Amino acid sequence: MSIDIDWFLAVVADAVHDKQTPVVDLIAVQTEDPFKILVATILSARTKDETTAAASTRLFKYAPDSDSLARLSLERIAELIYPVGFYKTKAKHLTLLPKALKTFSGQVPDTIEKLITLPGVGRKTANLVVSVAFKKPAICVDTHVHRITNIWQYVATDTPLRTEMALRAKLPKKHWININSLLVAFGQFICRPVGPHCDICPLLLKCPQKGVQPRKKTGVRMVKNNSLRLISWNVNGIRAVEKKGFIGQLQNFDADAIAIQETKAQVEQLSDSLKNIPGYTSYWHSAERKGYSGVAIYTRIQPLAVLYGLGDPEFDCEGRVLTLEFSHCYLINIYFPNSGEELRRLDFKLRFNDRLLAFAQKLEKQKPVILCGDFNVAHKEIDLKNPKTNIKNAGFTPEERSWMDSFVAAGFIDTFRIFNQEPGQYTWWSYRFSARAKNIGWRIDYFCVSGNSKDKVKSSAILPEVTGSDHCPVELEFLPEN
Ligand code: SF4
Repeated sequence: MSIDIDWFLAVVADAVHDKQTPVVDLIAVQTEDPFKILVATILSARTKDETTAAASTRLFKYAPDSDSLARLSLERIAELIYPVGFYKTKAKHLTLLPKALKTFSGQVPDTIEKLITLPGVGRKTANLVVSVAFKKPAICVDTHVHRITNIWQYVATDTPLRTEMALRAKLPKKHWININSLLVAFGQFICRPVGPHCDICPLLLKCPQKGVQPRKKTGVRMVKNNSLRLISWNVNGIRAVEKKGFIGQLQNFDADAIAIQETKAQVEQLSDSLKNIPGYTSYWHSAERKGYSGVAIYTRIQPLAVLYGLGDPEFDCEGRVLTLEFSHCYLINIYFPNSGEELRRLDFKLRFNDRLLAFAQKLEKQKPVILCGDFNVAHKEIDLKNPKTNIKNAGFTPEERSWMDSFVAAGFIDTFRIFNQEPGQYTWWSYRFSARAKNIGWRIDYFCVSGNSKDKVKSSAILPEVTGSDHCPVELEFLPEN
């Protein structure tokens, strides 16, 4: 089985785009000085990124270049770089470095052959310095690159050196410089050395998983027998997430029903793969306007009835509500309007909200109601990172929050807060300013239930590790016959 490396690396890049940049790349962004990049790279071996960053900062304060490093004693260097891994050995190498650099007129050389003559510099460090400091094609093969490219069966090698040689022979040059950063982040967060997170990995369906023992997920399915496992996710464009491994992710959810918002597609624009996911029947309610709004539900359970919209053309032309009736409950999937720039659509949104509440109350008289989706509002201050500065912004206006108050007063329950009262629990992050990496977010995606079914809620959670959209999925475990 041969993998499509362009597709694999594009998906990985998307999956880790909000993850912390490896420290050496970070230092390279801050300085173009090859000396500092070389020293930081030496320090980074077998050391956590945050420790390397702190040690580099301390050392560069006193030794920003080779001459000043030469003036520091071995003990002083060791003291400054402590507690990086093997700090005593690294301190020795750094005391020898200025003299060794003299061979190259005091400059850091830009070839692997020359770099590996320097103290403490192996092929991995040399490749990293060549690619990061000099932007020249080089493949830095560390444990993650070696491990993951073998898991993918892109190479079949038993040492990092052999992996480097195999990659040099077959990996397109455009990937040489980036592959290390991508696979380090991917290896730290998803394809981890012990118990890789295959269950949330967007590559799963195409990954050969050679020699892999995926992690066992714990604490998610609290009730196995008659419970419903439900997922809600604003995918921000279903055709876009399809390219990022959505179908594999959906199957990994192992859910009874998956409610999707912001499909941004008419049914005729969907691929057969999206419409026919094995084991699921899908229902779609799209907006009349192409590429806008839209909701869908994939379900394993045959519904008794499907209700499209709220029965009001003003709202239904935007494809915002889709309801499945099951034998013991209703599932309403909602994409609430955004109040928009300068709150131009606030009135529309409030009218929609009231109509939606009346609709849910009507259904509630017949059987328990589960409402899920992107509510486009953070209810309380705890539900967003910066409440003070967002009071006048869409999604946190007094009017929108006040409607949420009335929704709760009508008996509907925000299930996440039954289990979790912590701040910093978000479901949406702006694509800008590395907001997701810094967890500057909002909790605007909910699973709510009608008041008559609180005791049926077995768990409710946010799945922030699932990437592909600016929202992450939320999940509900519900025991309809409890
Ligand atoms: S599916 Fe599993 S083994 Fe394959 S890349 Fe993803 S996490 Fe790694």
